[in-house]
Amino acid sequence: MKYGIISDIHSNLEALTVVLEELKGIRKVDKIICLGDIVGYGPLPNECIAEIRKLSAINIVAGNHDLASIGWKDISWFNEYAQRAIIWTMDALTEESRKYLFSLPEIIEEKDFVMVHGSLNDYTDEYITGLKKASKSFKLLEGRNLLLVGHTHSPRLFIKKKHQPIYSVKLMDKDIIKISNEDKFIVNVGAVGQPRDKDPRASFGVFDTEAQEIKIYRVPYDIQKIQKLMREGNFSKFLIERLAYGY
Ligand code: ZN
Repeated sequence: MKYGIISDIHSNLEALTVVLEELKGIRKVDKIICLGDIVGYGPLPNECIAEIRKLSAINIVAGNHDLASIGWKDISWFNEYAQRAIIWTMDALTEESRKYLFSLPEIIEEKDFVMVHGSLNDYTDEYITGLKKASKSFKLLEGRNLLLVGHTHSPRLFIKKKHQPIYSVKLMDKDIIKISNEDKFIVNVGAVGQPRDKDPRASFGVFDTEAQEIKIYRVPYDIQKIQKLMREGNFSKFLIERLAYGY
């Protein structure tokens, strides 16, 4: 089985279209894994939801922005830019889109992996940025050996080998992660629609369960086109500019 792994689309249809074309066309994946945050920050929430709904084979969990945009989160915890974008998204969502976001689970457990947006300690809100947070999720992973997360927008791998301390590495374009049954892994493939690792290209992964490996890919997309739409929609300058810097 070949899975395409995507996360944090954030209403960026330009990036999503390029990534899905690559996954279905060139990489020929059988199924998509989406780790949440289809909406928030960007200008085309309904269009991104429609693209995701067109996919016949998909495993998808809710992200914090997805839930906030249907009124399921206290938005005072979000930063000022995120709050404004969430309020914008709440207004923009159609009833159909809202129903779809409402239907998303917060965790999915499969034979080969477990998937959540944030962490196993807090499915939608906790960021696994360091070893302490990773350690908590490794403990909660119990019998499984692979956890897929999103939320930080930075591609990163955490590994827990038996009787050894956890370690972490930043993931780059074309990196390959070898999954073994003896060790435990937390993999974040980065963001499709708003990367924050100083590489503005859309980020995603391909998980080949037979080869037992996950490969990271980066692809360029038309950033200026989405920025133009954001300018027209009166989005904050910070949110518009960060797309070009990948921050
Ligand atoms: Zn996000």
